[in-house]
Amino acid sequence: MMEQYLALKAQANDCLLFYRMGDFFELFFDDAKAAAQTLDIALTSRGVHGDEPIPMCGVPVHSAESYLARLIKAGHRVAIAEQVETPEEAKVRAKREGTPVSKALVARDIVRFVTAGTLTEEALLEPRRANILAAVCEVRGTCGVASVDISTGRMELEECTPDALSATLARIGPSELVAPEEWPAAPEGAIARPRHDFTSDEGQARLCKIHGVATLDGLGDFTRPMLAAAGGLVAYLDHVGRGTLPLLLPPVARAGSVTLAMDEATRASLEILVSQQGSRAGSLVAAIDRCSTGAGARQLAADLAAPLTDVTQIEARLALVGWLHRDPLLRNDLRVALRSLPDIGRALGRIVAGRGSPRDLGQVRDGLAEARAIREHLAALPDRPALLDALLPHLAGHGALVDLMQRALVPAPPTERQSGGYIAAGYDAALDELRQVSGNARRAIAALEAKYRDETGISALKIKHNGVLGYFIEVPARHADALMAQDSGFTHRQTMAGAVRFNSLSLHEEATRIAEAGGHALAAEEAHFEDLVERVAADREAIAATADALARIDVSASHAERAAEGDWARPAIVDEAVLRIEGGRHPVVEAALASSGERFVANDCTLTPDDRLWLIGGPNMGGKSTFLRQNALIVLLAQAGAFVPASAATVGICDRLFSRVGASDNLARGRSTFMVEMVETAAILAQASERSFVILDEVGRGTSTYDGLALAWAVVEAVHETNRCRCLFATHYHELGRLAETCDALSLHHVRAREWKGDLVLLHELAEGAADRSYGLAVARLAGVPPMVVKRAKSVLDRLEKGRAQTGGLAAGLDDLPLFAAAAAEAEEECDHLRERLRALDIDTLSPREALDLLYDLKRDA
Ligand code: ADP
Repeated sequence: MMEQYLALKAQANDCLLFYRMGDFFELFFDDAKAAAQTLDIALTSRGVHGDEPIPMCGVPVHSAESYLARLIKAGHRVAIAEQVETPEEAKVRAKREGTPVSKALVARDIVRFVTAGTLTEEALLEPRRANILAAVCEVRGTCGVASVDISTGRMELEECTPDALSATLARIGPSELVAPEEWPAAPEGAIARPRHDFTSDEGQARLCKIHGVATLDGLGDFTRPMLAAAGGLVAYLDHVGRGTLPLLLPPVARAGSVTLAMDEATRASLEILVSQQGSRAGSLVAAIDRCSTGAGARQLAADLAAPLTDVTQIEARLALVGWLHRDPLLRNDLRVALRSLPDIGRALGRIVAGRGSPRDLGQVRDGLAEARAIREHLAALPDRPALLDALLPHLAGHGALVDLMQRALVPAPPTERQSGGYIAAGYDAALDELRQVSGNARRAIAALEAKYRDETGISALKIKHNGVLGYFIEVPARHADALMAQDSGFTHRQTMAGAVRFNSLSLHEEATRIAEAGGHALAAEEAHFEDLVERVAADREAIAATADALARIDVSASHAERAAEGDWARPAIVDEAVLRIEGGRHPVVEAALASSGERFVANDCTLTPDDRLWLIGGPNMGGKSTFLRQNALIVLLAQAGAFVPASAATVGICDRLFSRVGASDNLARGRSTFMVEMVETAAILAQASERSFVILDEVGRGTSTYDGLALAWAVVEAVHETNRCRCLFATHYHELGRLAETCDALSLHHVRAREWKGDLVLLHELAEGAADRSYGLAVARLAGVPPMVVKRAKSVLDRLEKGRAQTGGLAAGLDDLPLFAAAAAEAEEECDHLRERLRALDIDTLSPREALDLLYDLKRDA
């Protein structure tokens, strides 16, 4: 057995091996140790290997799913080795092969791998979250990225520069990632796969085969990097499914420029899909999700992860939300109807992957029928928005399939197929007859029981059934003698402690009829099942399109509902670099305050080409971060096609969104936090355009006061002069206020606070002008710093302020600082000088010696 185990383990490689033994999956050696620790189950041992006892632990097969879920969550991958023959078959085989029957070992094989990105089981998936597997690779300097949600078969291909890879992956958020082995730039945590899987020829061939086409031209415009990544992805799926591929819909090529670009740090800092604590609770999506279905919630998350940049597309979404917003009754009816929808997409995924159950078929049937009803309801309404009219046709067209499944399946089919009973009566006359035969036989057995009681006079006589004996007659031991008699017509089968069991000819006959008819009926149901699976699989693309259309309608209804709940406004989307928000609010903070009975103070924000950079001062805890983020979230929501938490909003389309938080707020990283802050700031300065929106929160505070102020100063200048993007910059450096004198599109604002009877009152209200003071000590008192310490700080502060008055303070000497533009021009001039010298060179006339001298010369000047 160990030999067999070790051979399978070698195939399983770095996956934990679940080795089937009877009713258990057993794990051995290091696998057992890892699993015992993760699952908190007993580690035992069994036999020895070498001289050491073999560590072992096991989980019952019937509850394996929950254990699998925990192992996958903990980052493991699992290979499942099943028994692929019965013990009887093993004995027959042993005889044939000439090995002793006593040593016959049941053959086992790895039937599948369970990994985070390739789950389809309902129990292992979160209904409201997509589960993405991605593959990445690089082809001549360009990265290809292929991603798929195995549970629904949606596949996307895209490409990006190596620099943009991490931002792309942050948008996709894969739960499992594969990359070619020995690729130095492979993202952290990627599973290494053979290089030859990641070639465009391989990808093209595999996709053509899956979709039964000779060329991919009809599906979209795919580049070599995209195809190479697709090759790696499909090859991996082939590997984990042991040759059975899951549902894969035709890939969609994604163009980079059609969505609002956000890098990983921005996503994390805006807490779009997960909060800083790593949970969905506290995130933007959790605060706005009013979807009625899991598929809707997944689509909503996808929308928020990739807001649009095209005015027409955004307006189309907004028009549908607006239509549903105007009519609360319609919206309510629609949401009630959606709520009863099963998850068609995921049921389809399981069916096509060969892991579907009768219940999954029932879900597809009910979902498609409901879709048809929803279509009829909506199609009868006037003034439908264009997007809805584009979606409606996808909700119908399954009439024949639905009718067939309604006739074929019982109303609530079971999740298990073994015991049959899911094909409806009246669908197949032969099956009905088989059922009648076994039904009659069952009734005959009940009649036999009554008859035998009568004949023997034993009222405790019973006819029972179990897995070992089948049907039998049981009487209490004290009555057994009468039945033991030779001519009684009963044959003895088993003597128990208090009872004796018998058989009879009539019983045997009826039992045989039941078994035969039952076997045939099962086989007939099985054949119908296969047939239905095939028909559903044949319509996979149309069914998936129905699921998509329903999800889009659900998302729109969710936005409309959320807007009605919170009195949100439909944003005006324009193609200029402006952002005008009246009465803006932060959806997550507002909800948190509301739960403790507090009121959120709404604030305006107005950025235009002439006033595009706001410096925001004021005390800590005054609401600066909240204000910055709420405006970024409003932009994001608007471009995702949602209403926004404001009384009115005009959003000029943004190409990129950046959010940065000063170092000390962001401690959970390995690198020096200040280093992180600067790396991220560098990315903004390099990438932000006039079309971008940037929020910078206390940038520069991760270092000493002088360094920090100097950096913050230079960053603000650069953003103002070079990037020219819309920007909100929160800072506690008063000195930055001086920038208003030189930067004409910059203005000063602050969050208001007041001292009242010695206490600090934070008003969370934005006002124009510079902050008058920082209230740091008052905040410290508010936070419960002991009065002695605050008092001491006060006297230190007085000294410092006196010193500042004498020397001119932190910003002393900045008056004669040349303008940023002048400084930039100076640097540029030096470059020009070098450039000119290089251009004037005639390299052909230089000797090697002269060339070297010249290099030294240039270096000295540079
Ligand atoms: P800062 O960045 O100025 O230190 P925050 O934005 O972190 O301040 O806000 C601190 C706290 O103040 C928040 O957690 C929230 O409870 C409250 N707050 C912020 N903005 C508002 C607002 N507009 N209305 C009401 N409370 C607010």
